[in-house]
Order: sequence, then C-alpha cells, then structure tokens
Amino acid sequence: MARPLNILFVSSEVEPFAKTGGLADVSGALPQSIKGSEHEIRVIMPRYGSINERKSKLHEMIRLKEIDVPMGPKARTASVKSSFITNNTVKVQVYFLDNPALFGRSGLYIHPDTKKDYPDNDERFIFFCRGVLEVLKKLGWQPDIIHCNDWPTGLIPAYLKTVYRDDPFYKETRSVFTVHNMAYQGTFPKSTFPKTLLPAELMSVDGVEAYGHVNFLKAGLVFADAITTVSERYAQEIRTTEEFGSGLQGVVNARKSDVSGILNGVDYSVWDPAVDQLIPVKYDPKSLDLKLEDKKALLAKLGLPFDEHVPVLGIISRLADQKGFDLIGEELDHLMKMNLQLVVLGTGEKKYHDLFERAQRKYPQKVAVALTFNNDLAHLIEAGSDMFLMPSRYEPCGLNQIYSLRYGTIPIVRATGGLDDTIDDVSGTGGTGFKFKNYAGADMLKAIGRALAAFDDRAGWRKLMKNGMAKDFSWDASAKKYIALYRNLSHR
Ligand code: ADP
Repeated sequence: MARPLNILFVSSEVEPFAKTGGLADVSGALPQSIKGSEHEIRVIMPRYGSINERKSKLHEMIRLKEIDVPMGPKARTASVKSSFITNNTVKVQVYFLDNPALFGRSGLYIHPDTKKDYPDNDERFIFFCRGVLEVLKKLGWQPDIIHCNDWPTGLIPAYLKTVYRDDPFYKETRSVFTVHNMAYQGTFPKSTFPKTLLPAELMSVDGVEAYGHVNFLKAGLVFADAITTVSERYAQEIRTTEEFGSGLQGVVNARKSDVSGILNGVDYSVWDPAVDQLIPVKYDPKSLDLKLEDKKALLAKLGLPFDEHVPVLGIISRLADQKGFDLIGEELDHLMKMNLQLVVLGTGEKKYHDLFERAQRKYPQKVAVALTFNNDLAHLIEAGSDMFLMPSRYEPCGLNQIYSLRYGTIPIVRATGGLDDTIDDVSGTGGTGFKFKNYAGADMLKAIGRALAAFDDRAGWRKLMKNGMAKDFSWDASAKKYIALYRNLSHR
C-alpha cells in the first residue's frame, strides 16, 4: 500500500477568508474533499488586511515568526498565522503568510477605490511564492505535492526547478499548476525580473519571459510538473486558439502531454437549497413550490413587483469583458420587451456598472441591480430566480451555472468552456438548460426566448428543474482525479 501524501495547496483566495471569484470556492472546497481521503492536505494563502483576525479565528504560530524571504531589491520578513476550514466532517489547516507592508490592505489585487492594480503586485506575489517555500522549511513539513493555482503562485514551480533544485528538503516535491483563467497572467515589466532572484537565463522565451514582459502565469506553465485546468473543453481551447490561450497557447501546447482538464465541483454543504443557511425558505425537488417563497423574498428585497407568471432571470458575476454582458448592452431594449424581470449582482468594470444602472433607471419595474459583492444576496438570487444567464465570451469552468442546476434555476449559457461541458441543451434528451453557440446578441435573445416559451409549460418546466436538481457535480469525482495525478507525479 502506497503511503499517504503530503499536499500543500497554494492559493491567493480561499473561501471563507478572501474571495473575488470561483478560485476561492475551489480553494475552500477541494482541499476538504481531498482531506476526506487518506492524504494530508494543508492550504496556504496571503494574510490580507481584510481578513478579520477574530472572526476567522487566526492564531499566531510562535515558531514561524520573522522568517527571511530573499527577494530584490531587499529581503522581507514573513510571519505565519493559522486557522482552518471545516465542513464539520473534516478540518483542513490553513496558513496565512503575513507581511503587513505588502498584504495589510483590504484589496486582494486591486485598490478598492481606484480599481487599479496595486503597483507592487509583483513584489507582493514574489514574496508570497518565495515565502511559501521558506516557511515550509521552517515548519519542517515536507510536501510531496505543491498544488499551485493561477498566476499569483506561478513562480513557485520556477523556484523549485532552479533555486531549490538541489535542496534536499524539496528533493521529492513535485508541483501541479492549475489554470483557472488564462487571461489573467500577472505580467510585469522587465525590471521586475531581478526582484525574483531567479537565475538570469530564465529571462528568456524558454523561461518566464513573454512578449517582453515577466509573466508569472508562464512561469507556472513552463516549470510545473503537471498542468491542469478546470474543464476538459477549456484544456483544449487554451492550447489551440489565440483567443483562449491569450498569447500563451504555444506554451500550453508544447506541454500537451502534461495538460489535463479536471472539472470543478460544488460544495453542496454550501450551495444546495435543501440545506442553504442563507435563504429564507429551504426547498428540494419534492417541495418545489417553496421556491416561490424565495422568489417573493428576492423581489421584495430588490423592490420589484412579484408575479408568479413573470420569470426572473438572475445574473451573479464579476463584471468583466469575459462574461459577455456587452451582448446585453446591444440587446437591452429587445430583452426588455420580453416577459421577464432581470436581477443583477456584480462588481467590476465601470462600463458594465453604467450599463446596468442605465437599465435599472429605464426599466425600474423590470430590472434591479446590486453593484456590490454580497454572498448572502448571491444565495438568494440562486434560490429566487427562475433562470440564470451566463453569456460568457469564454468560461474556464463557471460555477454559478452548476449551482443554478441544484437550485432549479434553469441556466441559459453560451456554449463555451465549462459552460458547454456542464449544461445539456433541452433540445436533446435529459436536457438541463438553454445554450447558444455564436457570440451574438441575437443568438442570446433566441435562447432566452426558448426559455420563456418553455417556462409557460408549467409541467415541462418542473421536469426541467428536476433534471437539473438531480445532477451531481460534487467534488468527489474530481478530487479523485487530482489524487490520481498527485500519486502519478510522486512516483516519477
Ligand atoms: P469567476 O471565477 O470567473 O468569477 P465563477 O462562476 O467560476 O466565475 O465563480 C464566481 C463565484 O463568485 C461564484 O461563487 C459567485 O457566486 C461569486 N460571485 C461573483 N460575483 C459576486 C458578487 N458580486 N457577489 C457575491 N458573489 C459573487
């Protein structure tokens, strides 16, 4: 019997401590699922200023204070705090790498007021990557696998293959790099390179340089022992097209045999209307009528009139170009002629804030928007909406469409990436939602039109809801795939 593995999961956001998107959901849930196996897994993330010490039950780690983290232009010191995540079955230890000058701010990557990237993001995440490796040595906990996620962790595989290559502590350590979104690459000017203290030859096209910049995502892609991304479809897309590969498609393609797609799962202890603590009325497939109570509560909260026969179309999203809301901009007036109400929760780019505010002003009986980040409201929208819209340009996996299935909230999605992998169009047997292929406003409207027509057939709609609610995207299957990958690497 092979021995259990030690796995360190490294992420810049982890639910419930810090979140801007799906990465946090994954980082909170996947480690718990893995911990349910025989393996030991721990998580490490930055200690942001927004993390409340008392609420998050952060404890000092006396042994892990004042640790030198070599980096340019000057070394920094790190200390570590500790807490845990638990679903009441297992408990996963979470370490928080602390340096108040770099991370003692409320934003994760951008300044909350100016919405601009912090100008020292290079130093912040160089510190994080190098700090993680220094801290483990001090802790004396030797990982078989370091599982890195997205650009903020991309330098770790590069350090392991260079600076720590001959370090006996990391002799057996292998790295996995998961790409949750190829478009966010952590690119910095050449002047960033000396701060990494990586060997000079890495500032080349075979190393961490891309298009004249230092590229942290590329570092992960080039140096990790294995690469994964969060759906099979996206794994293909990012190595075959410029549009999805965002300029690094060749880099991914060169590592084709080391790339795999493992679909994200859902933590159904959090995202299931039968147990959801954040919605007014719980329901399940046997008590579907109760969903109407959540719809009433949602509309009352947002100040829209309630009518059982008018479907509510929900949106919860980062408001970024990726998410496809320019299609709504194009077709707003046509959309508003349809028999529906639109409920939007999101934050992001100003042009989308403007768009949705304008829509609300123009159609106050039909549109309600909350331009903020609000987890409670996200749950209420999942429960209280009849349909959920994700017209994404591209979507590595997407979680809200999968959550929507369990809430009996029928997804209307563009057939791309994980959206295409997780939703079956009703035109086939056992369908769960409505899909459109072309990235075009008219095609989106057609899909919404098909959904509205289906909504009028109450019996058919209920059957559709039940189809979706019966789908199981729990983490177990995907966690097993990650474990198999870890096992495979640790034998190499
Ligand atoms: P992405 O990671 O690209 O943002 P995903 O669909 O994978 O997209 O995950 C988005 C996650 O973030 C979901 O859990 C969603 O509920 C949450 N989310 C996005 N925007 C908001 C918001 N404004 N308020 C609360 N939760 C949000």
